[in-house]
Amino acid sequence: MEADSRVPDPRSPVPASMSRSATATIHLDALRGNLARVRELGQAAKVMAVVKADAYGHGLERCARALAAADAFGVASIADGLRLRAAGQRQRIVVLSGPDAASDLAEMRRLKLEAVIHHESQLAMLEAEHGGEPLKVWLNLDTGMHRLGFAPERAGELHARLAALAAVDPAIVLMTHFAASDEFDNDFTARQTQRFSAGAQGLPVEHSLANSAALLGWPQARGNWIRAGGLLYGMSVVEGKTGADFGFAPAMTLTTRLVAINRIARGERVGYGSTWECPEDMRVGVAAIGYGDGYPRSAKSGTPVRVGEAPAAVIGRVSMDLLTLDLRRAPAAQVGDVVTLWGPSLPVEVIAHHAGTISYELTCGVTRRVLFAEDGA
Ligand SMILES: *Cc1c(COP(=O)(O)O)cnc(C)c1O
Repeated sequence: MEADSRVPDPRSPVPASMSRSATATIHLDALRGNLARVRELGQAAKVMAVVKADAYGHGLERCARALAAADAFGVASIADGLRLRAAGQRQRIVVLSGPDAASDLAEMRRLKLEAVIHHESQLAMLEAEHGGEPLKVWLNLDTGMHRLGFAPERAGELHARLAALAAVDPAIVLMTHFAASDEFDNDFTARQTQRFSAGAQGLPVEHSLANSAALLGWPQARGNWIRAGGLLYGMSVVEGKTGADFGFAPAMTLTTRLVAINRIARGERVGYGSTWECPEDMRVGVAAIGYGDGYPRSAKSGTPVRVGEAPAAVIGRVSMDLLTLDLRRAPAAQVGDVVTLWGPSLPVEVIAHHAGTISYELTCGVTRRVLFAEDGA
């Protein structure tokens, strides 16, 4: 049968004129450069590229391809490990919260995934096994975050129990996770590091402590393995600082188009709830993006935006599909202009600050209807 020429081929590139134009462009060279910068800061340490939550919203497979020089990938689920293997990745892959059920162990072995063991129930599953190919294990110590992990005093006993199992690879890595490493003047990270060292003392294991913020602020907490997420995407969670302040490049630019410009009279109010009042007769722009695309509804009036190269600002409430903009500082703006919500010229950390959250939540929150594009090879 003839193909119906009126039905678009879903594989063909989406024309720029399609009415929803919210686009997340992922900068592959930035990902690569950021990994090199993590290595430089980490000196001899190995790097686990943390790609959980679809690589912080940047797309798991494409980021893994760009970050293929990492020594391992860190994921939050076996399903993500499966996606990486299906995409042909042969690196070490660590499932950061380990197996939930005995059946997970078989799947992890099949896919050659490594397990973070943080709870007695997981240890019991391993001890109940009869043989099996040796599973690589990361033993998680809770040094003060009080989320996942065993008491550091138990490290020796737990290591001995794991090392005694035929179905566990003897090359065990000891890890911990920091609660406040983004606060460079809070010595809690030093205390966590001390508790870790006390627990790890004398054990023949590699150590993994630092996340992105610790890599920047706590060089003594580096260990053998850095587990870096945010910095690979060019993002910092250090208050008042952007990734660029530390030499990292943003890996995502979120853009859309201006779909209307209206002249609104002084005293009129804009948007749901009529929260913003025009202080003078002025041009109000309407951009085709909203919280249905992942632009945060909590972004307050005054949150910066760019229209072409010119500065503009969110006014009124962000709605599901649309955003209203103060165009008084963008006199040349025209319908059809590119609107940048965040990217190299407008740090996502700044937008997050205006929305009362962190950059990670914004990039993770980009929704499925946003088009993804890649920039670089
Ligand atoms: C998410 C995560 C990381 C990475 O944290 P970043 O701040 O993004 O570097 C490291 N370790 C664990 C256990 C994590 O869950």
